[in-house]
Amino acid sequence: MPTIRSDLPALVLDSIDHGESDKIVTFFCQDIGKLTAIAKGAHRSKKRFLNKLELFTFLQISYSKSSPASLSVLSEAELLNSFISLRSNLPCYRTASIIREFMLLATGETINDDNVFKLALWTLHSLDRGDNPKRVLSLFLVKLFDFIGYRPDFAFCQGCGKEPGNGNPATFSVQTGGLVCRECMAQDPNSARILTPGTTHMIRAIQQQPISRLNRFKPGGMVLQQILDCFYRYGRHLFQREIHSWKCMDG
Ligand SMILES: [Zn+2]
Repeated sequence: MPTIRSDLPALVLDSIDHGESDKIVTFFCQDIGKLTAIAKGAHRSKKRFLNKLELFTFLQISYSKSSPASLSVLSEAELLNSFISLRSNLPCYRTASIIREFMLLATGETINDDNVFKLALWTLHSLDRGDNPKRVLSLFLVKLFDFIGYRPDFAFCQGCGKEPGNGNPATFSVQTGGLVCRECMAQDPNSARILTPGTTHMIRAIQQQPISRLNRFKPGGMVLQQILDCFYRYGRHLFQREIHSWKCMDG
């Protein structure tokens, strides 16, 4: 049975030339998650796909698929938002590239969590209107791992099960995906990257809020650095891969 979908909201995550006139495009779509489709005649077609298949573009697409094993064919793409300001701001563009890499690594063909789609959209809108790129990235990462089912535990020590006392520093273990308290930390001198109480408090607060309330969080300074460091290392560990775009981050 052929599949035909129309007017599906989608973000462009990847776009590569295929042959002389086609493109293979990877989308992240509302309802269905990741989708790879061929855009036939993308180079020739003056109108249909012009300037629409760039990275990060927000579209409404229509496609067909003749059988489960065949490649989807893009039939229409209507531009909803090209995030034009994001493209002319290098720190924002680089941050969007990191978000794109995490999306490609984290979302299999079958992940269709609408929260992931909404989160990606929120992130691109925030970068496009000029919000602090590192701050936007930190909020994206805390929520992303939550939505894909790998929410790290910042409440209880993964060694002894106790809640690190108020005001006590702890560390984050990528292996166990959670906090390690000061006493348990002393037994493992390798995991000596200290998280201040302000950082664990901030992460827990972000984890508990929906996307619509992310704008109220303004992590900065050391808290922001520690959040980014935790989730970068956590991502590398979970995906068993280097996050290449991370090297291009400023500062
Ligand atoms: Zn402990």
